[in-house]
Amino acid sequence: MDNTEGSDHFLSTEQERQKVIQRYHVLDLPRLAIEAANVGTWIIDEESRVFIASRRVKELFGYKPEEDISFEGAMRQIQEKYRTKVIAGIEEAISKDLPYHMDYPVTGFHDQKLRWVKAVGGLYKDPEGKFSHFSGVMMDITDQKEKELRKNKFIGMVSHELKTPLTTLKAYVQMLHVWARKQKDSFTIGTLTKVEKQVKKMSSMINGFLNLSQVESGKIHLLLQDFELSEVIREAIEETSLLNSSHFITFRPCKPVLINADRDKIEQVIINLLSNAIKYSPKGTPVIVNCEVNNDMVTVGVKDEGMGMKKQDIKKLFERYYRVESKDTEKIPGFGIGLYLCSEIIKHHHGQIWVESKTGEGSTFFFRLPLPKQATDL
Ligand code: ADP
Repeated sequence: MDNTEGSDHFLSTEQERQKVIQRYHVLDLPRLAIEAANVGTWIIDEESRVFIASRRVKELFGYKPEEDISFEGAMRQIQEKYRTKVIAGIEEAISKDLPYHMDYPVTGFHDQKLRWVKAVGGLYKDPEGKFSHFSGVMMDITDQKEKELRKNKFIGMVSHELKTPLTTLKAYVQMLHVWARKQKDSFTIGTLTKVEKQVKKMSSMINGFLNLSQVESGKIHLLLQDFELSEVIREAIEETSLLNSSHFITFRPCKPVLINADRDKIEQVIINLLSNAIKYSPKGTPVIVNCEVNNDMVTVGVKDEGMGMKKQDIKKLFERYYRVESKDTEKIPGFGIGLYLCSEIIKHHHGQIWVESKTGEGSTFFFRLPLPKQATDL
């Protein structure tokens, strides 16, 4: 059969088109779409914080459709660990007129059921600009979240299981090293040095996955202590140089300051940034670590003369599993979790992390940490 046969039937004139537009004009399409997608809607009045929730939002919070739900009531149903963050997120979005986007678990008021919701919204003014309201939509993401949690648990278990034999392997290699040195056996010493390097690389990969699963399940614990930042930077440079001899790393220290942070995690951030600087720049090019103290903040920069990146990549760089896809990066191995972990660690320390970069010219990754109130100059 000729498949163009009968197609004249669908040829419409402009007049017909307008007729159809008018016929459907009466329909409230956004509302139909919201209902079809089973999405809830909510409004918070900017001044009074009066909260108005649709039937679906009430359902997600475990309320009956005929019941009223107050802002405080809704917040009480959010799991404690997330509550302060959600309230702070709403207040920040309202006061700074920022888009609001958050995922959190809610325990149903009557049914005590655990549901994960995604809330998205923003500040809107009425057409005359007289009053503004903070409003948006809410979706049930429980299934997706449960799958994600299962995956994280799996990654955590696998990395934990791999770590145990690797630690034993490391100990045996170290014992052999001591023995070979006693025997003055230079061949075995050389070979064991190479084995140690590979074991170190492998355990740093496994630790990355272990940290990822801890961050994802909200189990990131900081062991805060006072320490001198330059000391940790020097150790991180030493550790990185041991595994990579292809680049020369220069350190331009700042005046000595004590910071109060998790020493190992901050060292991990610096090692990650240094390893990336080396990984994404040609052999023999310089890598420079810079440190600056400004009032109540200390800023560290890791600069390379590598491939750099485009503006659109910069925006997504600190997202989990994000890797730049280009001809230059396709042969460089990685999992796209290093920068995500760096950003989570720095955020937990109330700091900031960012990058300045130009394609083909190189990148500088910065992180900034607050200094203790009465920072001690050493
Ligand atoms: P990985 O290096 O394992 O892919 P990361 O999270 O550390 O994961 O980095 C994410 C992506 O950011 C990398 O895949 C790379 O494309 C880009 N990137 C990171 N550091 C640099 C750098 N110094 N220069 C250029 N691109 C970088």
